[in-house]
Amino acid sequence: MGAAAGLTALGADSARPPHGTGKPAWAVPTPRARPVIHPTPTPTPTPTPRPAPWTPAKLTAVEKPVRELTQLNPPPPPQSIALTIDDGPSPLWTPRVLDLLAEHGIHATFFVIGEQVKEFPKLTRRIADAGHQICNHTQTHPISIGSMARKRVRKEIVEAHDRIADVTGVVPQFFRSPGGAWSKTILELVAEHGMLPIDWAVDPRDWARPGVGHIRRTLMKGKAGNIMLCHDGGGDRSQTLKALDTVIPKMKKRGLTFVAL
Ligand SMILES: [Zn+2]
Repeated sequence: MGAAAGLTALGADSARPPHGTGKPAWAVPTPRARPVIHPTPTPTPTPTPRPAPWTPAKLTAVEKPVRELTQLNPPPPPQSIALTIDDGPSPLWTPRVLDLLAEHGIHATFFVIGEQVKEFPKLTRRIADAGHQICNHTQTHPISIGSMARKRVRKEIVEAHDRIADVTGVVPQFFRSPGGAWSKTILELVAEHGMLPIDWAVDPRDWARPGVGHIRRTLMKGKAGNIMLCHDGGGDRSQTLKALDTVIPKMKKRGLTFVAL
């Protein structure tokens, strides 16, 4: 509660409306104004995106990661639900996930890995350009991060931040720890770097390929206010895609609205 309020101090990047405003996307007055990343004076060959300024905010560490949308300030409208997509970008699966989200007309939140952002900058920009939220999921996705020393955690956070900002111009406002491993150190550093720690309430363990039916059934248990976890990285995501293709329209029929953080 109230933890997100401090983020308003972040409003750094006025050129990119839904991003970098320090508020969840639903709190931004111009809905889904398309962010202009590369103003297109035709003859100029691919202008280098300008890195967003690195402005560590002075936030108090929150005690617990956010699992429900109601913990955000301001909270989204009551019938909202959030789909988060982790461990990309993946050259094979991310484009298919993006196509699927576009087909169903929804926005999601992508927790990307810095090393992959470096390897696939265009794909990362495509995620941002489509209006999805881009967030920090560390530089190398160390699953032992919960027991890592402060210096190494800081490096994981800062390197991913710089990579994302450099490639997309987006200042990440949200952080998810690999495997949902949290420590006091992680939470403090996440706050120090002006981000909110994000967990999830619904986990179909799609990364383990438990079958389309299992993924679908678990996701369908999602309720208004939940943050749901899926993946576009880490291997074959065809089960995830198949499940989402039916889950998204069913949830919309129930009156739920998908929101990006
Ligand atoms: Zn992950």
